[in-house]
Amino acid sequence: MSSKKIALVTGANKGIGFETARQLAAKGITVLLGARDDKRGLEAAEKLKKEGLDVQFLKLDVTDAASQDNAAKFIADKFGKLDILINNAGVARGPQVPASQGTAEQWRETFETNLFSLISLTQKLLPLIKKSDDGRIVNLSSILGSLTLNSAPDSPLGAPSATTAYHASKAALNMFTVHLANELKDTPIKVNAAHPGWVKTDMGGEAAPLGVEEGAKTSVWLATLPKDGPTGGYFHDGEALPW
Ligand code: NAP
Repeated sequence: MSSKKIALVTGANKGIGFETARQLAAKGITVLLGARDDKRGLEAAEKLKKEGLDVQFLKLDVTDAASQDNAAKFIADKFGKLDILINNAGVARGPQVPASQGTAEQWRETFETNLFSLISLTQKLLPLIKKSDDGRIVNLSSILGSLTLNSAPDSPLGAPSATTAYHASKAALNMFTVHLANELKDTPIKVNAAHPGWVKTDMGGEAAPLGVEEGAKTSVWLATLPKDGPTGGYFHDGEALPW
């Protein structure tokens, strides 16, 4: 078993995931850069390798069960454990429409990537994470998943025209985070939900105030929490968010 820490970041060929891979590798961690597309994944890993970082591409389409199995087998065969899982891959599908108009198909597509795939991938990797002395699972949520903030009077988050399916997928992810953390509370594994901030990426758009360097910080902090750090929380920039 490798003595170095091993991390997997899903959806790491660009955006917050790519920068998270960079910042974790800069801490001396071996990073598996998960990406569904060979070309995009290889190019991204190559870029970080050229910076002298210990990063390798791992093909992983999170919505594909066979791809999940292959990734889990690769990690088991090569490293025999996984220290850090960053469930970063995510989509915000469809137009911003009132809740009464969003289609079930849009909801299903969103939940497929942001929730169902994440649950099955986490379950498949959990036996490897249990082999780590300090397992850390970070689920990329969003402040948009906060029921408290969506339901606050006049909150812009709860505006009638919103990507409601996306908000709901992150709220459900928060619930998965709490329950998995509770289940694992007597183990060294910590499970937390991260809001990266509003970040300039293909998803966040040009108007976002934060760059990816800032956007990756919460994931990296939760991935490298000390033994007495929190579990079952929902955080942005070191602060707990209201559920
Ligand atoms: P992004 O730039 O759109 O990147 C999303 C990443 O997820 C891409 O690498 C994409 O790969 C990957 N992905 C999507 N579906 C996938 C699949 N089936 N299998 C594997 N990879 C897949 O988004 P981002 O802004 O960096 O967001 C990263 C995470 O932060 C997401 O979970 C998002 O919900 C969350 N978040 C972002 C913001 C923000 O302001 N940006 C705010 C709150 C939360 P391809 O290149 O192949 O499509």
